[in-house]
Amino acid sequence: MRFAPRTPVEARTEGATSPKGTGPTVAQADRRRAFERLSRQIARCTLCPLSQTRSHVVVYRGSPVPRVVFVGEAPGAEEDRQGVPFVGRSGKLLDRALETIGPALGSYGVLNVLKCRPPGNRFDPRAAESCRPYLDRQLDLLRPRAVAPLGAQALRALDPRSPPILVAAGAARRGPDGWLFPLIHPAAALRSRRLRERWERDVRALGAWLEAPPFEML
Ligand code: URA
Repeated sequence: MRFAPRTPVEARTEGATSPKGTGPTVAQADRRRAFERLSRQIARCTLCPLSQTRSHVVVYRGSPVPRVVFVGEAPGAEEDRQGVPFVGRSGKLLDRALETIGPALGSYGVLNVLKCRPPGNRFDPRAAESCRPYLDRQLDLLRPRAVAPLGAQALRALDPRSPPILVAAGAARRGPDGWLFPLIHPAAALRSRRLRERWERDVRALGAWLEAPPFEML
């Protein structure tokens, strides 16, 4: 999995859109179609036991050409009911935060490490192994400039060598596949005032970083 453009030349050509008004480049259009095919495949998945208890597979929401992708852990009850990531209480907090940094953020997408709700909302590492190729392929096709893991499980999935989430959150780091900007999970921010303040501070730091990104991310 590599979510950043592969070479400096690709960085200039792949991310670029065609001349104004003529729509996406051929490469972008191909990747978009492949992403749609992948989404349909994920929506039919029966690889692990979570497929027997879910109501809906939760695949993706957001831009087809996101600059930043936010990666959560697993769908909760509301996401399972609607088939859309981050639409419950955590999602509302996430959306409010993203609104505050909207101009710096630009286009974005939201997905999860696990595509199906684990019973009792307990993160299931074995299910995460089954879902892993989906996560890798999603990021490969979306090719965002940066990925923001939300919470410890998402951070571990994207960078197993990262320091713990409370150390890593709020600062950009190079992950094995590209730029990461970890944040604490919004559900944690709903649990205590201290974590809510941390969440707000870290989201502001993300906005500031995106306003002045490192040269190789442009
Ligand atoms: N928590 C997550 O990690 N993902 C969701 O989609 C909802 C809540």
